[in-house]
Amino acid sequence: MRKRVFSGARPTGRQHIGNYLGALQNYVALQDEYDCVYCIVDIHALTTLESTESLQEDTYEMVLDWLAAGIDPQKSIVFVQSHVPQVMELHTLFSMVTPLSWLLRVPTFKEKVKLQPHNVNYGLVGYPVLMTADIALYKGEVVPVGEDQLPHLELAREIVRRFNSLFGVIFPEPQAKLTNFPLVLGLDGVQKMGKSYDNRIDISASPQEVSKRVMTAVTDPARKYRSDRGHPEVCNVYRLHNFFTPARVQEIDVECRGARIGCVDCKKILAESINSNLKPFRESRASLASKPGYINQVLADGANRAEVIAKETIREVKEKMKLLQRADLERPR
Ligand code: SF4
Repeated sequence: MRKRVFSGARPTGRQHIGNYLGALQNYVALQDEYDCVYCIVDIHALTTLESTESLQEDTYEMVLDWLAAGIDPQKSIVFVQSHVPQVMELHTLFSMVTPLSWLLRVPTFKEKVKLQPHNVNYGLVGYPVLMTADIALYKGEVVPVGEDQLPHLELAREIVRRFNSLFGVIFPEPQAKLTNFPLVLGLDGVQKMGKSYDNRIDISASPQEVSKRVMTAVTDPARKYRSDRGHPEVCNVYRLHNFFTPARVQEIDVECRGARIGCVDCKKILAESINSNLKPFRESRASLASKPGYINQVLADGANRAEVIAKETIREVKEKMKLLQRADLERPR
């Protein structure tokens, strides 16, 4: 029996190379070893969104990127969180066994309160409960996380433990699968590559766009002239070469330090490497995008498969909690 992996990601639209090198390549690799459930957590996104205008478009674009990158909907369940409403039900039931003090001490909740003081909604404080419901509804046993997310997973384990001890064991305690997500800085060389900053390269960008974006990348700030010796250890272009041009990083290091290569040429090499790495992805994306209704079909099938598991979990939960179920009404009493 293969263990079940659960992972959710907010619908952030087109994925950038930071998403690709971190979460996405890992998602693809996990499919060989585990039964994977990959969820676009659109309800979670509502806790921080100012506007929902692009939510549908962002969901489609993200799923297209996932599939083109190698997530196989035959192997894995790919679906949208809100399409399986049982997660909201489990969230409410879990909220009855989760002390408020556990939620108020979560560091990310405190950060969010500072970041959006005008919108401290109930969803923000209940976020870890919904996250626990996401994992537990599908009896997720393994959750791929970065080190920074470990406290969240520990809280999910505490909630599950508490439920199991109060009502009887139903849920596995989800285990962290620690993944070394590489920190990919944006083109500004300062912030993590992200959607909110103008510092990203989308994996679906055309070769011309990639070249144009790479040319804007900040390099070694001390290297003002071509004849200045460079310091690759402080240059983000060099860091990106490590991911995309691993066979030539030594050579680039030496040439940069000796001022034998200029930043423009160095960036041209990077753009070529990124483009050749992304070529199979682009071809696959174009082919999937040309199939009318394909994404809808994948998401509908994913929601159906997820719902079968979800309904059975909710039935078990209600039975353990001694709730009178609708099915009970059909029996004589
Ligand atoms: S030559 Fe390359 S590694 Fe060196 S500073 Fe310029 S961009 Fe960075």
